[in-house]
Amino acid sequence: MANNLSAPHFHNEEKAFAYVEERLWPNGPVCPHCGGVERISKMQGQSTRMGLYKCYQCRKPFTVRMGTLFESSKVKLNVWLMAMYLIAGSKKGISSNQLARTLGLTVKTAWFLSHRIREAMREGGFDLFGHGGGAVEVDETYIGRKAGKAVPKGGWGHKMKVLGLVDRNSGKSRFFHVDGGKEIQGIVLEDLSREARLMTDEHVMYRRVGREFAEHSAVHHYEKEYVRGDVTTNTIEGAFSIFKRGMRGVYQHCAEKHLHRYLAEFEFRYSHREKVGCNDAERADKMLKGIVGKRLTYQACV
Ligand SMILES: [Zn+2]
Repeated sequence: MANNLSAPHFHNEEKAFAYVEERLWPNGPVCPHCGGVERISKMQGQSTRMGLYKCYQCRKPFTVRMGTLFESSKVKLNVWLMAMYLIAGSKKGISSNQLARTLGLTVKTAWFLSHRIREAMREGGFDLFGHGGGAVEVDETYIGRKAGKAVPKGGWGHKMKVLGLVDRNSGKSRFFHVDGGKEIQGIVLEDLSREARLMTDEHVMYRRVGREFAEHSAVHHYEKEYVRGDVTTNTIEGAFSIFKRGMRGVYQHCAEKHLHRYLAEFEFRYSHREKVGCNDAERADKMLKGIVGKRLTYQACV
């Protein structure tokens, strides 16, 4: 994407169609009904819907929005692109209220838009972290408040628990909304290569799981030890602090059922941040690729 909001595809719907078609159909239009790529014509004429094609193999009409998260939304494609660009570029996220004001939408529409975009940001990579013996930092944090839970005198029982992993070599992160230790151990075993050098704090739940890996080193936070050689969890804690600042400042009222989408948003931005060589425009284009093939109905969203 162009590097600022003055680019024409943010302001002109026809340009927006061309922009999306170029990226989703690099080799020309593909019929979403039958998968055909031949005998497809662009429909012309004043009363024709924008971006409409007809497939003469299955005789059905389609646009580039069909079969993607853009489908069945009345919001203009250029507005979608602008929303994606804004979300991709704001380090701490952008609230639905702010998005509504900036784009001239109702808050409800802005909310649906941003939830769909978050869905597009869910990457769910299956490559193992720490492949080839790299360091992987693992840590947990607590956020918000579970519905109906009173604030206890001590402990974190009323909060939502988030597990984070950072692969130090690739700079990528993964965030999970988790219940407890067993689930954490399961994720660590599933997402890390056995060659990995696992780095955690001294929490007892990492001990047994740590034996499965080439190395497990823990920093002793209780003794105020944060770095020992290259053993540290400072990277994942830095990622958490961006997430928490965003959640506190922008998304104050995050229901537990939506937490995974916010986590996906922060994970995506973190994994494609400037430091790993990804600018706002490239990040937004990556997001666009995530739009393909993901459908999210309004019902599934509420
Ligand atoms: Zn077809």
